[in-house]
Amino acid sequence: MRLAVTDRCNLRCFYCMPEDGLNWLSRAELMSYEEMLRASALLVKMGIEKIRITGGEPFVRKDIMKLLTNLSKLDGLKELSMTTNGVLTAPYVAEMKALGIRSVNLSLDTLDANRFFTITHRDEFANVMHTLDELLKHNIEVKINAVVMDGKNTQDILPMVELTKNMPVSVRFIEEMPFNGDEHSYQGVKWDYVRILNEIEGHYPEIKKLVDPAYSTAYNYQIPGHKGTIGIIAAYSRTFCGTCNRIRITPQGTLKNCLYDDGVLNIKDLMRSGINDAELEKHLVKAFSHRAADGWEAERLRVEKTGVHESMATIGG
Ligand code: SAM
Ligand code: SF4
Repeated sequence: MRLAVTDRCNLRCFYCMPEDGLNWLSRAELMSYEEMLRASALLVKMGIEKIRITGGEPFVRKDIMKLLTNLSKLDGLKELSMTTNGVLTAPYVAEMKALGIRSVNLSLDTLDANRFFTITHRDEFANVMHTLDELLKHNIEVKINAVVMDGKNTQDILPMVELTKNMPVSVRFIEEMPFNGDEHSYQGVKWDYVRILNEIEGHYPEIKKLVDPAYSTAYNYQIPGHKGTIGIIAAYSRTFCGTCNRIRITPQGTLKNCLYDDGVLNIKDLMRSGINDAELEKHLVKAFSHRAADGWEAERLRVEKTGVHESMATIGG
């Protein structure tokens, strides 16, 4: 389960939201930590084993460590992890490790400070690199998420592969998706997983395919002799829908069965209506059974209603 704790963010990655931000959710529209904990406890009881905290940027929500501490105590939860942009994360790494967080997805699209500014509209590259250092120092498994964007950072593909030579990280190249908060500016996917792989294979013909873990959304590879690995995520091409087992809860409490659907149930509203857990569980089971066949069907059903112009910050990635 991906739980997005806020839509707010301290970066403005152009592929995720407009430069002047979003129409931020009010406090009342956001799920409270108590509501998140209640929903999470029930979903863990129903069989969810892994929770990934995301957003917006999780560390811009006040007291995020309190939520993580309480989630880490949930009976039956096998894995708690996070996706973060790394701007504010470094001072919390030791505490995260102490809570049992073993894996963090760090979003980093370039190894060049100027390109970082062009992509994110903020001068925070040094802080993100400091977070990367801290995570590695604390032996937390790091997956670096890099969205591949034509004309913006394709020159970073090979240097990021080279990063895996001495660093035990998994660098994951992600196809750009149409969730930038502005339905007109998405140019389509110019760098799909095949093109990304061709680029890497052209320079590293010795690259080896690894066995992908069950339910993995990434195709995984390694350059022989390198400490780290490489993943390619066909997030736009949607080649993995058949084995996808993710559910998502947005900051306003909407349950999504797919990144591309427009929400199948509002858990927050149900909880605020005074429903008990047994009734809520029935609603959840019914909602899970209404999963679209794949991301294409989910998008088609949604486009008929609203069109895809959401920001990834209100979905959680
Ligand atoms: N702020 C945190 C971060 O950036 O890591 C967590 C939330 S962010 C929405 C989660 C992930 O979604 C990030 O790795 C980001 O690169 C990815 N993402 C955002 N917009 C995207 C898009 N249009 N296409 C592909 N990935 C996107
Ligand atoms: Fe913020 Fe993450 Fe979206 Fe970038 S991708 S604007 S860091 S929420």
